[in-house]
Amino acid sequence: MHIVLLGAPGSGKGTQAGIISQRLGIAHVASGDLFREAANRGDELGQQVKSYMEKGLLVPDEITIKMISECIAAPDCNKGFILDGFPRTLGQAKALDEALGEKGESVEMALYIEVSTKELVRRLSGRFICRGCQTIYHAITSPRQVGAGRCERCGGELYQRSDDLPETVRKRIEVYFAETSPLIDYYRGEGKLVEINGEGAIEEVEQKVLGALKGKWA
Ligand code: AMP
Repeated sequence: MHIVLLGAPGSGKGTQAGIISQRLGIAHVASGDLFREAANRGDELGQQVKSYMEKGLLVPDEITIKMISECIAAPDCNKGFILDGFPRTLGQAKALDEALGEKGESVEMALYIEVSTKELVRRLSGRFICRGCQTIYHAITSPRQVGAGRCERCGGELYQRSDDLPETVRKRIEVYFAETSPLIDYYRGEGKLVEINGEGAIEEVEQKVLGALKGKWA
């Protein structure tokens, strides 16, 4: 099972990818998480990607494709995977098709979680994350916890991702529509695109996503 999840930053694709990976027992590969881990480690990859991420720009294809190719060749991806945040350019999508094609495999479904720009800005610029357990809070839906600056579950400190600050948020959304929306046409052309309205509550979107997967695999 090889699923690609498409959606702008803030569309909820990370949350839905986590749910799908648990339900289907396949690996969840999040390119943004892999880059953030590298940036925190400060290794060679981290140093290369940090300045792109801080500006809200895409990391060049060459670096990104190499990192993801290594990751999906690892044993924990043998049963399949859901890709969250990759591909983001046509070059990446074609590189993925090639890498899978060499093994006689292919992307079977591209799920596109659709959310309006206004809602994306609202969601991203109010997002706070726990340093301890990574629980996500929002200034609008969880004002008490965000005001206290502490996680309700583990007591960890809440922080805002540097690329969730308003200026960078607008840049990331702009980059998404310029570079990533052509992928929607690409997967539509291949008959693999499934569009999901991502504006409801997490559980509502989850039901729609699971419905699409059942339609294909159940
Ligand atoms: P995300 O957590 O998916 O929003 O990703 C955070 C940042 O990581 C992005 O703004 C990019 O700088 C970088 N990034 C993640 N995935 C990719 C990708 N597929 N191609 C290029 N850059 C990426």
